[in-house]
Amino acid sequence: MTVTLLVLGSGTSQGVPAIGCRCDTCRSSDPRDNRLRPSVLLSVDGINILIDTSSDFRQQMLRYGVTRIDAVLYTHHHFDHIGGFDDLRQYNFLQKQAMQLYGLEETLEEIRLTFRYAFGGARQSGGGLPSAHMHPVLGGETFTAGGIPVMPIPVMHGVLPILGYRIGDIAYLTDLNAIPADSYPLLENLDVLVLDALRHRAHPTHYSLEEAVEAARRIGARRTLFTHIAHNIHHERDSALLPDEMEFLYDGMMITSMQHSP
Ligand SMILES: [Zn+2]
Ligand SMILES: [Zn+2]
Ligand SMILES: [Zn+2]
Repeated sequence: MTVTLLVLGSGTSQGVPAIGCRCDTCRSSDPRDNRLRPSVLLSVDGINILIDTSSDFRQQMLRYGVTRIDAVLYTHHHFDHIGGFDDLRQYNFLQKQAMQLYGLEETLEEIRLTFRYAFGGARQSGGGLPSAHMHPVLGGETFTAGGIPVMPIPVMHGVLPILGYRIGDIAYLTDLNAIPADSYPLLENLDVLVLDALRHRAHPTHYSLEEAVEAARRIGARRTLFTHIAHNIHHERDSALLPDEMEFLYDGMMITSMQHSP
């Protein structure tokens, strides 16, 4: 199985540049310092699986010419990861069917609450509502999305249990500051690991860069790429701090992985 990962957004919740900020990263002319809200698209044999509908979803779909989405996997319900939900209705229109959404039951419930109008809460339905089928999943139990096997990986985002996802030998773990011991066996033999590394200083719900490097060493993927990057991290300057097999993700980056493990 060949899996291609396209980075739609590598930034933290406020995006980079941050509104009104004059720091080196926010004023950088390097396109790698320009980060939309966090999301990736995984493609396997022509099936497109999106992870999260970020607040920049519409812009991301236009920028990268994504004309089909077969399934959406949600990591958790924070707004930077679900904010683009309403624009899924364009894919309802293009594909003439409801969108298939996967996530923890708690995450799906929060989406129903946040976008209440799309789930029976609208006074009139003539305005074009997104249509979705929700599929609750459980950490550590493989499911199929668009016919592709997906492993949900339990991780901790502060006190909130959320999910990362593994498809083939690529894993995407964002918004976390701890990996439960039971999740490490699900991360063996990875070709590519995408991992949260918010900033240099410690944070109560995200890995700092130092913590992320340590977790990445323990997981031991062939290649690790850091995401959910705040403006405190400058791509070129801070890349010098990283071990050889680790790097910062940037928007538009494309990574292909061949599956080796069974
Ligand atoms: Zn986030
Ligand atoms: Zn800044
Ligand atoms: Zn979050």
